Amino acid sequence: MSKPATSYRARMPTATVEDYLKQILREEQGQAGARVPTGRLARALAVTPGTVTSMVKTLSDDGLVDYEAYGGVHLTEEGRVLALHVLRRHRLIELFLVRTVGMDWSEVHAEAERLEHAVSDRLVELIDALLGRPEVDPHGDPIPTVDGEVGVAQHGTLAELVVGRRGRVARIVDQEPSFLRLVERLGLQPGARVKVVARDSVGDTIAIQVGRAATTSLGLRAAAKILVDRG
Ligand SMILES: [Zn+2]
Repeated sequence: MSKPATSYRARMPTATVEDYLKQILREEQGQAGARVPTGRLARALAVTPGTVTSMVKTLSDDGLVDYEAYGGVHLTEEGRVLALHVLRRHRLIELFLVRTVGMDWSEVHAEAERLEHAVSDRLVELIDALLGRPEVDPHGDPIPTVDGEVGVAQHGTLAELVVGRRGRVARIVDQEPSFLRLVERLGLQPGARVKVVARDSVGDTIAIQVGRAATTSLGLRAAAKILVDRG
């Protein structure tokens, strides 16, 4: 059966469809084209494998994913464009909530999860213009462009920074509110300058200096979740 060519704008996907596409995009990251096992998708979305299978078949009928029973799923070009638009809305909303509304960066994710399905394309474009067409959200995650382009900057982690070296915080990988509050307490938000002063391999910690503040200690596991640019 042939389907009329409809754009993502005409189709008006449901919030559930958008959440699936976004999750598949996330699981594919770093291995574009690789198939995501439906079992992994079920765990990530906290639904049963049967639910995922039937949803994925629907997405496949709509041309948004390529699905192979037992092989898993990956996004088609159309699915990828749609997923990137959801991500664009999510990240612009997060930045808007922090900068304009004054919400704390540790709590905007949950709010954006809801709003990302509700805002119109026109409102998103106005927010983008209002914020000066930003490239990253408050956590340092790149904001896809309206054409679905997304930056692929390579960053090292704070845990890997050589003693004596300085870096600039680029992105926070763990966005749990409690971790973001720790990052904030240490002054390690994106843009902050940080220097590794010493490394304690027995205690699995590094001593860091953030800006001109006093030296403090940070566990290597936490440091591995903070991405930095060298310089
Ligand atoms: Zn974010």
